[in-house]
Amino acid sequence: MSDCLFCKIIAGEIPSTKVYEDETVYAFRDIDPQTPVHVLVVPKTHIESASAVTEENKNLVADCFAAIAKIAKAEGLDNGYRVVTNVGEDGGQTVRHLHFHILGGVKLSPKIV
Ligand code: 5GP
Ligand code: ZN
Repeated sequence: MSDCLFCKIIAGEIPSTKVYEDETVYAFRDIDPQTPVHVLVVPKTHIESASAVTEENKNLVADCFAAIAKIAKAEGLDNGYRVVTNVGEDGGQTVRHLHFHILGGVKLSPKIV
């Protein structure tokens, strides 16, 4: 998707602080971190949101979670962390490319969720 911010980051057209990359997944630090560790994990293939996951692309979600486990270990989140994906307008999704927030490095509020 030529006008997608995260597709541009994946392509290296917009700079990012990379923390992980493999064949299908790219991960980078959030520009406006909400927690001491705040990493965004995205499939390299453009998928609009969790609502656009299908039989055909669902393996990319598994790839993202395999990456999340590795990143959490590398970031020292041994005491736990939270993974969040916002979906659509009511979910607060501002970038329409599926992404998983890894939030950690602090004891998170028991709310949400
Ligand atoms: P959403 O609100 O869609 O769930 O999450 C989008 C996230 O992308 C936000 O946490 C926001 O801070 C982050 N973000 C927006 N633009 C950029 C950018 O240009 N670079 C990086 N690294 N993060 C961004
Ligand atoms: Zn995209």
